[in-house]
Amino acid sequence: MPKHITSGLKYLAAVKLREQGYFQKDIADKLGMDRSTVSHYLNGRNLSWSSIEVAESITNCCNRDFLYMTYSLTGDLDNTRTIVGILIEEEFQAKVKDTCIGCGVCVDACLLKNISIVDLKCNINTDECCGCLECQLNCPTNSIKVLEVQNFNK
Ligand code: SF4
Ligand code: SF4
Repeated sequence: MPKHITSGLKYLAAVKLREQGYFQKDIADKLGMDRSTVSHYLNGRNLSWSSIEVAESITNCCNRDFLYMTYSLTGDLDNTRTIVGILIEEEFQAKVKDTCIGCGVCVDACLLKNISIVDLKCNINTDECCGCLECQLNCPTNSIKVLEVQNFNK
């Protein structure tokens, strides 16, 4: 069953990429699939619709649950990063306060490996941030604020 649900997630990602104008070859490359499977997906063949329904319900969870469920289903960080990156539409920004003590807890907390310590301070690359908030929730000095870009300057 996990494999079917992973296929459902890849189907949703393939459809989203097609809507964005990607060609089948590019979709296959991005999702690590062969072109014929992508073609079947986009033409509605060889699909388990119940798995797609389950996959859709996973995408409707909060970003954190979506991220961790996708990772537990795929067992692969690159696949997880790709699927989550395609299906989460919001963009995020992060603020790190001067109270950061460079402990590195946030580095370990970020499944997507977006955080490093630079000059003894937390440095967050938000290009691939999915807004799971694990870094913010785990910071012992409450130094991180992650917000959707549209709310960042409010
Ligand atoms: S967990 Fe908080 S205090 Fe520790 S490095 Fe990250 S931002 Fe700084
Ligand atoms: S919210 Fe924090 S932990 Fe989650 S992906 Fe973004 S940087 Fe990583």
